[in-house]
Amino acid sequence: MAANSRCSAAEPPDLETQRREVEYLLRDCELRAGDSWFMVDHRWYEQWKEFVESGDQNSSCPGQIDNTELFEDVCSNHLKERLVENEDFVLVPAAAWHKLLSWYGMVDQQPPLERKVVDLPSTLKVEVYPVEIFLCLHGNMENVTTAQFSRTDSIHSIQMAMCRAFSLPPTCECRLWMKSSENNCERLRNVHMSVLDACLSSGMTVIMETRNADGTWPSTRPLILRNSVEEQDSYRGQPGVCGLTNLGNTCFMNSALQCLSNTPPLTEYFLQSIYLEELNFSNPLGMKGEIAEAYADVIKQMWSGHHYSVVPRVFKTKVGHFASQFLGYQQHDSQELLSFLLDGLHEDLNRVKNKEYIELRDAEGRPDQEVAEEAWRNHKRRNDSVIVDTFHGLFKSTLICPQCHKVSVTFDPFCYLSIPLPVSKERVMEVFFISLDPYAKPMQHRVLVPKVGKVLDLCLALSEMTQVPETQMVVADVFKHRFYKIYTPDESLSCILDRDDIFVYECSAQSDQQVLLALYLRERAHYRDYGSVSTTLFGHPLLLSVPRSSCSPEALYQIFLQRLARYVRAPNPSGELEEDDDDDEEELYKSQTNGISDDDEQDDAEPTGSSQSEACYADGPANTRHQDPIAPSEVHIRPPPPEEGDVHSMCTGAPKPLCSGDAGPSDGHIHARGEESRAEVDEEGNDEAENEEEPPQSDAIAEDDGKQEEACSPSSPVNEQAAKTRTCRRKKRLFDIQAVNCNGLERETGPNLTLSSQPYVALDWDAEIKKRFYNENEAEKYVKHSSMDVPLQQTTVQLQECIQLFTTVETLEEENPWYCPVCKKHQLATKKLDLWSLPEVLIIHLKRFSYTKFTREKLDTIVDFPLRNLDFSGCLLRKKLSNGEPPSRYDLIAVSNHYGGLRDGHYTSYARNKDNGQWYYFDDSKVTYATEEQIMTNAAYVLFYHRQDKMRKPCVATPSTSSAICTTSSTSTASSMQPPEADVSAVTPSCASAFAELTMETD
Ligand SMILES: [Zn+2]
Repeated sequence: MAANSRCSAAEPPDLETQRREVEYLLRDCELRAGDSWFMVDHRWYEQWKEFVESGDQNSSCPGQIDNTELFEDVCSNHLKERLVENEDFVLVPAAAWHKLLSWYGMVDQQPPLERKVVDLPSTLKVEVYPVEIFLCLHGNMENVTTAQFSRTDSIHSIQMAMCRAFSLPPTCECRLWMKSSENNCERLRNVHMSVLDACLSSGMTVIMETRNADGTWPSTRPLILRNSVEEQDSYRGQPGVCGLTNLGNTCFMNSALQCLSNTPPLTEYFLQSIYLEELNFSNPLGMKGEIAEAYADVIKQMWSGHHYSVVPRVFKTKVGHFASQFLGYQQHDSQELLSFLLDGLHEDLNRVKNKEYIELRDAEGRPDQEVAEEAWRNHKRRNDSVIVDTFHGLFKSTLICPQCHKVSVTFDPFCYLSIPLPVSKERVMEVFFISLDPYAKPMQHRVLVPKVGKVLDLCLALSEMTQVPETQMVVADVFKHRFYKIYTPDESLSCILDRDDIFVYECSAQSDQQVLLALYLRERAHYRDYGSVSTTLFGHPLLLSVPRSSCSPEALYQIFLQRLARYVRAPNPSGELEEDDDDDEEELYKSQTNGISDDDEQDDAEPTGSSQSEACYADGPANTRHQDPIAPSEVHIRPPPPEEGDVHSMCTGAPKPLCSGDAGPSDGHIHARGEESRAEVDEEGNDEAENEEEPPQSDAIAEDDGKQEEACSPSSPVNEQAAKTRTCRRKKRLFDIQAVNCNGLERETGPNLTLSSQPYVALDWDAEIKKRFYNENEAEKYVKHSSMDVPLQQTTVQLQECIQLFTTVETLEEENPWYCPVCKKHQLATKKLDLWSLPEVLIIHLKRFSYTKFTREKLDTIVDFPLRNLDFSGCLLRKKLSNGEPPSRYDLIAVSNHYGGLRDGHYTSYARNKDNGQWYYFDDSKVTYATEEQIMTNAAYVLFYHRQDKMRKPCVATPSTSSAICTTSSTSTASSMQPPEADVSAVTPSCASAFAELTMETD
């Protein structure tokens, strides 16, 4: 059978060997430039790991390697954007990949995701996303092709690719231009430069022009691509009110830059060119002044008043060179960039040319004032720059050893405060509840559960809403029409991600008399080849308890039919599904390779035991499972009495039992195995043969896969043989019942066969019958419980509460212990931070991204932060200020916002222009007026506060914002997820001619 050939080409070694071999290949596997690594779907890989490590009930064979989830769409083989390593995919070295591939094979038509290790300026990286560039000729800009390049490829290789793509001789004389998303165009002069150094990123276009026969070039500059910088020569806007072009996922950088640009002391330092005298070219910790110079260029352009928007390309390249984490594979964190940038600027501008070594002294009981002054003096002896002057403060850190109670006090400088947000101990989950009532639609519920709770807590919460006892619920993760995982009540809820589709099934009370079946729906596709069938899963899987006593195929069929009643129409009794003639019947049998509806397989008196298996399973090694002794059917099932009105009543032979009941009380259908039942003869007079070699099993379905499977799936060839010899009129069932594994595949032998207590059964449908009887539309319906109407409550905390949390005593985590000089070993000390002195500009980073061992989340708590008069005097450890010291009152000057979730999102910023005092909203190249009311949102991520005594009054009048006007150089950046107001897009100019009419109003 085709379905059985799904797994391996090679016979995989046993699970332990698989685990060891791959583990060995992964261990110490270093990245080497040019090596190939392969991407593997994280879910598949985790399932494989579970499979080889445990073999518990939910971990059966992961099946073929399937990377479908990584593709945007499978046809184009285009990867989804922003996939995250170890969350969406894992990277394995080539050797490990080839092993996995040889053992498990790969889903048809899927290309392996081979990726090269590239040698980037300060790191080696597997290049998961190559740069995808559009290519076109200057003479024919309509004809665009797409090509992928590595960041280490040269511009020359792009040139060669273009010659190939456009059928030009490789020796032709040509020039390349690159066009970013904005309307500007730069010449790629140096063909030896790498894609990375040229700042080419995905989505950009490279235009090639070839020299005319008369020796001229078609254009001095491609005509449609005039550089907007040149067009803006006449623009005289408010300095500082200037957008920054997005260079491809660089909104995090733009957001951070706008905040810094609107930090008055820093910007004035650069605008007045003081930095030129302080550039430190020799500092080994610095970047030879390059970051500071690139930053100065951006600031000078932004504050020239000449530009609507600036392209920070050079700056981005420099950042990428010095901090490879910002090279731009995916979205980054504006706060991380800020931290890097402040450090880089500081070292580039450090007035200390030779850092002396200073031994740090512990307080050893000296007064705080003395120790703090010493610490600050020491800090300044090594670190003295505009950054220190503007942003550095001092906090006191007190560590206490839990064992010897040694108290260690140090005073440490900080450049920004990372403030924790109170983490809710609860979590909102959205789940679907599937009632026992087959006519009830799935109901979506929103429940509140403890974040560190167990699956049982979810059931308890749901029980309150549904009045269904939690003991009668089974929770499952449904993925691609099958159960990705069926949870036990004591499993941790942290295993469940918000994006998982969680279904909670009501099941009748569990008992020994019940067996919980996992039910999949499959559609068969037929091939002309005899017996060749492939199946695809569809619809929602189900979990239902069935009494062991009615595990006859017929009883099961009825139970399943009843369960599906909402969306499966039962055939009418007048013979809607009746077969017409022998030919059709034979067709039917050909398709029902394993159909349990072929309940007359015992027409053929089967030989017993292993000899039978060899005789009957002629279709190849895929069926080698049958070399195991065949499970006995120790109980026998009679055909149901005709008065039950069974659609299947004609011609029913005595079917093999699907599973065997207890030897206990039997109903009218089940007979304990015994001499008399073995020789039982059904209505049609067929002998029932029995396996005599195996002892009776009391609980085949629950304890032994192989046996259960055997019981559930009579062998196909037998059926087919039977079919060929039979010619009686019969009614057909809607679907056949087939034992499968958790992936909905035919069971396999070898390493794939695990002992599992969870039986999985597939209902196999012919396409034609499914079309007639299965109502897809109805099946997909669900209703929303009233809990879904309650808006998720937005938590609000005061900024001061967060600052108090920052100064709360905490115990160090295991990963980050403290070395106690008395105990001479690492200790999980208690740590307390206190603020000692604050800088002129205080940066407060709200820790919205919470990563713990168990959870990763973004907190969308609203932090209530004041725009004016943030008073720190109560938070400072030092209560008395000495004479002449400034009060600790601050006003807000800028906010970096993050919209969206953990993995993706958009950064923008609010900032107050130092010259006119007006607030603006900066969204990449777009700038709009903002009001103070707009600023406090749950997107606020990094706050910039300026101490009041240092603030200066606006030197120009605050503009009237009655007719809000924005500055922009493009219309292409309507990507903001939450623009503050819809007021501005309407005035976004769409062409260069509109620029001239735009002026910032100043009165
Ligand atoms: Zn100690």
